[in-house]
Amino acid sequence: LSPVPSDIEISRAQTPKPISQLAQEIGLLPEELEAYGNTKAKVHLSLLNRLQHQPNGKYVLVAGITPTPLGEGKSTVTIGLVQALSAHLKLNSFACLRQPSQGPTFGVKGGAAGGGYAQVIPMEEFNLHLTGDIHAITAANNLVAAAIDARILHEATQSDRALYSRLVPSVNGVRCFSPIQMARLQHLGINKSDPSGLTPEEVRAFVRLDLDPEKVTWQRVVDTNDRFLRKITVGQTQFDIAVASEIMAILALTDGLADMRARLGLMVVGSSRNGQSITADDLGVTGALAVLMKDAIKPTLMQTLEGTPVFVHAGPFANIAHGNSSVLADKLALKLVGEEGYVVTEAGFGADIGMEKFFNIKCRTSGLRPDVVVLVATVRALKMHGGGPNVTAGVPLPKEYINENLQLVADGCSNLKKQIQIAHLFGVSVVVALNVFKTDTQAEIDMVCRIAEASGASAAVQCHHWSRGGRGSVELAHAVKKVASQKNHFQFLYNLQVRPEKIRTIAQKVYGADDIELSPEAQAKIDHYNQQGFGALPICMAKTHLSLSHMPEKKGVPTGFILPIRDIRASIGAGFIYPLVGTMSTMPGLPTRPCFYDIDLDPVTEEIKGLF
Ligand code: ADP
Repeated sequence: LSPVPSDIEISRAQTPKPISQLAQEIGLLPEELEAYGNTKAKVHLSLLNRLQHQPNGKYVLVAGITPTPLGEGKSTVTIGLVQALSAHLKLNSFACLRQPSQGPTFGVKGGAAGGGYAQVIPMEEFNLHLTGDIHAITAANNLVAAAIDARILHEATQSDRALYSRLVPSVNGVRCFSPIQMARLQHLGINKSDPSGLTPEEVRAFVRLDLDPEKVTWQRVVDTNDRFLRKITVGQTQFDIAVASEIMAILALTDGLADMRARLGLMVVGSSRNGQSITADDLGVTGALAVLMKDAIKPTLMQTLEGTPVFVHAGPFANIAHGNSSVLADKLALKLVGEEGYVVTEAGFGADIGMEKFFNIKCRTSGLRPDVVVLVATVRALKMHGGGPNVTAGVPLPKEYINENLQLVADGCSNLKKQIQIAHLFGVSVVVALNVFKTDTQAEIDMVCRIAEASGASAAVQCHHWSRGGRGSVELAHAVKKVASQKNHFQFLYNLQVRPEKIRTIAQKVYGADDIELSPEAQAKIDHYNQQGFGALPICMAKTHLSLSHMPEKKGVPTGFILPIRDIRASIGAGFIYPLVGTMSTMPGLPTRPCFYDIDLDPVTEEIKGLF
């Protein structure tokens, strides 16, 4: 329709097919499906075993130029592309997307189900509770927090013996260690299985974690942008948004229940008074966390507006974590589509962050290799990179973004060129997808495509999925098919063992910095993590997404800067070290007029209004 109706009107105008029908169409057995109502279902991981000999399909990553407030449309391109591949080129295809946090849904950004005629439906299910995975993460995360607090209290108030008799209770008059306690004994170098045979020194070492309350790094989480919880004076604690929890990053990187349990156990929650790292395993909480997460580990199946399959699974924060959907969903989808099929997944933020982490962290963990990168750009965003004025929400767009301005477009293409070069550092070919807005002129569109190809992109095409659905992305689908069939020579950007150089390599080669500057705290942390044996983990840079540099106001391709590393932290269970570049809020706040002002429920029809 023209004009294009609102996202929720379009979503509601389409009746989704029953999820059991979609599951059957893509080759799932009834016992592999756990329906949550009619439009979404969890898929059992046993499917991976059943299809283990099936060759994988092609693996397509959608990334973007450096984001601007004008929006680029990576999710809409992802969905438009699978709609075109499936419904128009008749190729099996799957989209794998992140589950959005309720923080942005009720805050500034709104939903994340795509938009226009390229959406996941029903979009209100997608954007709200879905199948409860984020709630499970919140519960698991806060159980760890409570376990820490209880342990500190009990160690402070009880003798070694009293703690011991409570931690190792007798069953029918016989004391015995649980498996997790046996593991702790081994970790302490105490090779005894008889609980009555421990010396007083060994009992003391066993019962006292001696967590230093000043050095607890674990935070509580909640899935709301609640500024108040950034700092609470009573108890000196702090809340993060749920998707910033390390448990979310683990969910996104794990390859199965055993691995998830092991990773949960490795999470470091703080350190003891003598500087030893204390883990979830030390707290004895790992098994309970695995129980809380046992359903969350299964990806959720949904569908696009054109009835093609989508997995929604995990949504880690893209700065202190890696910002990509789950390894498990990608693995399942790659098997389901078969050798001739396509799995399209999306990396958050610009390619310098989301794509770099997709390659160096997610692909390293999963062992999967991408066949092609689709780089999304818009004329409007490129104009801002070329020096166009800033925009303010609620105020009409400046004329530069409405009228043709070839100079701004040409200048802004520097950012597109740099992001293409970053993909090439990894040996992967690029198709540029120009997401067309109704204000773009033909001359502007042609200019972007010409510059993209001259900058090394294998193809550059315009996409109209937002206004036309899958048929608006057929040209993109053909380009992706062609480029994905060509050989590429994927390589990681850095070797895990080359310790001090990893951060510098990313800063110089990806961001274009002259060098890095480590604060004394950051240097001390590097030494500490090396001592603790964590030196060979990949790096997850926590940097602003609004610039290739650490300065959000610097658009285009900034040069001549030194990247300051303020501090360095570690997510040992997830398996990465994250340097903090400048200040980073892990609890966003709500704006003056948040999205929730427009959200309401019709008590008669139960229809949700105002989501977009
Ligand atoms: P990203 O994934 O890059 O954050 P999305 O795909 O979620 O971006 O799109 C952001 C918003 O912009 C959505 O509300 C979407 O409907 C809108 N949008 C995307 N592409 C277009 C377009 N071509 N024309 C108009 N609006 C668009």
